[in-house]
Amino acid sequence: MHVVSREDPHPVSADEVDPDRVNHFFPIRRRDYHLGEYIDQGMKCRGIRRELLDLLLAIAASNDPNEFVALLREENGVIEECDLVPGTVTNEDSASVLLDMMPLDPRRAGSAHSHPNGVLEPSDADLSFFPRTGRYHLIIGWPYEEGDWACFTADGGPYDLEVIE
Ligand code: ZN
Repeated sequence: MHVVSREDPHPVSADEVDPDRVNHFFPIRRRDYHLGEYIDQGMKCRGIRRELLDLLLAIAASNDPNEFVALLREENGVIEECDLVPGTVTNEDSASVLLDMMPLDPRRAGSAHSHPNGVLEPSDADLSFFPRTGRYHLIIGWPYEEGDWACFTADGGPYDLEVIE
């Protein structure tokens, strides 16, 4: 099987991802990604659908004390859908590698993941994977109630994302 990641046009065989390579995957990619190239792609989002936000809060709560990761998809500038990704963003050898292998999706808006520690700020690991997965990134924090979330742009700056009923 061959997969092509968005920033790396060279096909990577899944069979070649041995544990030794996985352990070094993240820091290598961190030096290689092109921030501006990705941020210019995709539509500017004006908001997120209320139903999806409620679903993400519920998924975060049901995964606690573990983290969850999802990719977000927009429709006409509104974030409407999500795809769950196995693993976490803090564990280099799981979700980070899977995110790099996700097929190109023109409706990819960004990502959402939970912080069971309740801190609504991107970690260093978050700042590394944000630019690789889109423009808008939700962090959902314990206790996962209404308002326990924040949106950030790919460079980690706060973004005022409207909730659309
Ligand atoms: Zn995080």
